[in-house]
Amino acid sequence: MRPQFQTHLVNGTTGDPVLYIDFQFRRRALLFDLGEISTLPARRVLRITDAFVSHTHMDHFIGFDSLLRLMVGRSKHLRLYGPPGFLDRVMHRLLGYTWNLVQNFQVELVIHAAELRADGLLHRARFRSARQFEREGLEPLEAPGGVLRNEDEFRVRAVPLDHNGIVSLGFALEEKAHLNVWKDRLDALGLPTGPWLTELKQRVRRGDPDAAALTIRWRDGDGDHRRVETLGRLRREVLREVPGQTIAFVVDAAFDAANRRAIIDLARYADQFHVEAPFLNEATARAAATGHLTAGQAGWLAREAGARRVIPFHFSARHSGQESLIEEQVRAAFAGTGS
Ligand SMILES: [Zn+2]
Repeated sequence: MRPQFQTHLVNGTTGDPVLYIDFQFRRRALLFDLGEISTLPARRVLRITDAFVSHTHMDHFIGFDSLLRLMVGRSKHLRLYGPPGFLDRVMHRLLGYTWNLVQNFQVELVIHAAELRADGLLHRARFRSARQFEREGLEPLEAPGGVLRNEDEFRVRAVPLDHNGIVSLGFALEEKAHLNVWKDRLDALGLPTGPWLTELKQRVRRGDPDAAALTIRWRDGDGDHRRVETLGRLRREVLREVPGQTIAFVVDAAFDAANRRAIIDLARYADQFHVEAPFLNEATARAAATGHLTAGQAGWLAREAGARRVIPFHFSARHSGQESLIEEQVRAAFAGTGS
């Protein structure tokens, strides 16, 4: 089956961290981190609906201006997520410009910002062009399990990681199981296609019990029909569940015990694990002093998590020209043959 999400590291392995996650067959994309995005074509920027920002060190958040510049003057909703302090950062970025004309636009840009705090709640604010991006407080939301966004087809979850005394969020995009319909089984059961299949999928997705009843109504040449079946039977006979993809993303995190546990849990069986590997193994002391991972540590984490693929990035400029050596050290640790 073709994956629904296509990923692309906008600035490669050495530039600012930005993972562009494109939804196939839809004009929509998500971002993990918001470093420089000036090389992204405008049409791809305009597809972004949600940007998840690990922390607001400059190389992870400087792309906000480019995003804002393209979206102002259009009818758009943009959701931004970040660590504690994020709402203030977004507000100050917006306060950096003069907005006296923007409320006259016919269309409105609405920025919904949220920060995941240590209380486990998602604290929120809204900034609308029609009000010159003045900050409007919104009620906090529960974020059970660190889930920042939960849609029918996927969810995005975050874990707080320590990065030299500040929080850097790690993210995982978890696609929910696809539910496909076996058309020939429907025929065999004498059931028609129709809107009831949408109801069936919705109820299976939200975990209704197998014993629950579903009423199927349809009309054909013989008149009106009505049949009652249990959810369990329909699920077994008619639906085929295909597990979804998981894409995990970790940048700027120390290799301490709490981070190791959190990262391994986040990236568990991930199809793609995008992980920072700024330093060669030889620079372990430097990595520890700056709250970063080495290549070997990144590979080891991917191995412990049982990730299917590890994609190292965010290489330090101090190792310029040694990128392939970093990659080698990551692979070796991932394969269990590293030193
Ligand atoms: Zn960084």
